[in-house]
Amino acid sequence: ESDPRLAHIKESIRTIPGFPKAGILFRDVTTLLLDHKAFKDTTDIFVERYKDMKIDVVVGIEARGFIFGPPIALAIGAKFVPQRKPKKLPGPVVGEEYELEYGTDRIEMHVGAVQPGERCLIVDDLIATGGTLAAGIRLLERVGAEVVECACLIELSDLKGREKLKGKPLFILVDFE
Ligand code: AMP
Repeated sequence: ESDPRLAHIKESIRTIPGFPKAGILFRDVTTLLLDHKAFKDTTDIFVERYKDMKIDVVVGIEARGFIFGPPIALAIGAKFVPQRKPKKLPGPVVGEEYELEYGTDRIEMHVGAVQPGERCLIVDDLIATGGTLAAGIRLLERVGAEVVECACLIELSDLKGREKLKGKPLFILVDFE
């Protein structure tokens, strides 16, 4: 937390209590996107970290991984692959289920988008329980790819989602306890 850019990044994220339901503190990164310095610094910090890590693929998780993943991919010379909610991708897909508080959800990826042995960075805006990222990791490992690291802007550290990532490193910019 010694990077002087982080305090401003944290302040640029809006908190909306009660969205999408009672009891949730929603951490809204759309206000960060309105602040050019905060958005640029966010991208720069990730690019500085990943530019020499031989990342082949930046994998963005729907939906806000689609905002932060592509500028990182372009800057580090990697390709970008979306992992999407069910029935959004038009081609043949591989999917992975994960547990929610009530029921299950699923993410999908195009067959062949990631090749065996490719080095992947998974990007999302926020880790809460870790269920989404854990499913993203499983999906990539099933196609024989290597998950080098997960990167999120925000960690809700009280939820201990990090422990679900099977030892994969998680890099975050700000912690909201
Ligand atoms: P999880 O699978 O529990 O780690 O949830 C992570 C996903 O849900 C991410 O894609 C987040 O965008 C979203 N999410 C969960 N909790 C919040 C929150 N408090 N504020 C904003 N987004 C959230």
